[in-house]
Amino acid sequence: MKNLEKIVFNSETPDEKRRKTIIENIIVKFEFVESKILSKSVLNREIPIIYIGNKEKSILLTGAYHGMEWLTSLVLLKFIYDLCEKIQDDIYYKNLIKKRGLAIVPCVNPDGVEISLKGENASGEYKSLVEKIGEVQSWQANARGVDINHNFNAGWEDLHRREIEMGITGPNRTRYGGEYPESEPETQAIVNLCRKMNFGYAFAFHSQGEEIYWEYSDKTPSQSLEIAQKMAHLSGYTVSFPKGLAVGGGFKDWFINELGKPGFTIEIGKGKNPLPLSDFNQIYSKIEKMLYYILELDIS
Ligand SMILES: [Zn+2]
Repeated sequence: MKNLEKIVFNSETPDEKRRKTIIENIIVKFEFVESKILSKSVLNREIPIIYIGNKEKSILLTGAYHGMEWLTSLVLLKFIYDLCEKIQDDIYYKNLIKKRGLAIVPCVNPDGVEISLKGENASGEYKSLVEKIGEVQSWQANARGVDINHNFNAGWEDLHRREIEMGITGPNRTRYGGEYPESEPETQAIVNLCRKMNFGYAFAFHSQGEEIYWEYSDKTPSQSLEIAQKMAHLSGYTVSFPKGLAVGGGFKDWFINELGKPGFTIEIGKGKNPLPLSDFNQIYSKIEKMLYYILELDIS
């Protein structure tokens, strides 16, 4: 192990540069961690993935599908870091990751995060579109105005119809699902990964609301509700049922519907998006037990 500085997670917002610094720190410090570039965004920003432990029996954790929900990427990076310290120091975790693994994509939508944190100057060739739409701090979509969590192929047509009813007919800062399902490279990156990896479970982190979503269609596995209830018990979060425009088109919906495995959305924190960095420690400590519970889930 190399002696690098210990990362202070609540000291800086997790923009592209900061996330890269943290991931580099982790891979230098912990030799058992593998990091790759999973894919690239509309604006060619890297979408890294981090692997720990047994790849044959693994669980997927993903964050920052939505630009202004950048705090979710920081939560996942801290979890990786803390888990790696435990693996290094504690024989229990060292053995556990021989039996199972994690694949973590801290930031699915790097362009959206950069636009939310830095404004229209981070939107490259889409600058005039982003400027025209405005209110960039609350940007949720990718750089060309497609909401990644409305772009998955699960009830997409129905969701698309409801978007139009609400007056969302083209690129927007939120809730526009694109011209067709899986039209966006960020969506394709996650879908292709899942088709390749045979994950036992998948989790998508969003903000905010302190809620856990677990259900989509009659394909929802029978154990999903019990897992959601256990996670709620450990975190104080609420088990929820989505309504209106939150139904369909999302990653967890696709994961359940297409693969028939348990998929969950966890809405971290409470307040108004973007949640401030000053909420980070409190949010992390509230969900920490739930994160370690996820690591212990049965994978047959
Ligand atoms: Zn979200």
